[in-house]
Amino acid sequence: MLCPYCNIVTRIEKQRVEVEGDQSPDTETKVYRILSFVCRNPRCEHHGEEVGETKVQIN
Ligand SMILES: [Zn+2]
Repeated sequence: MLCPYCNIVTRIEKQRVEVEGDQSPDTETKVYRILSFVCRNPRCEHHGEEVGETKVQIN
């Protein structure tokens, strides 16, 4: 994705896995991978900060 502040392509800083719906047998369990994006433009005021994340369902 692009940094929303400077529109330079960001890099993926970390990923984590999130599970939804596993507390109740009535709901479908969904597993997501959350990707966090960090701005890599040294001239952006949000350089090195997390500027967004994307949620991708993996099951
Ligand atoms: Zn930026």
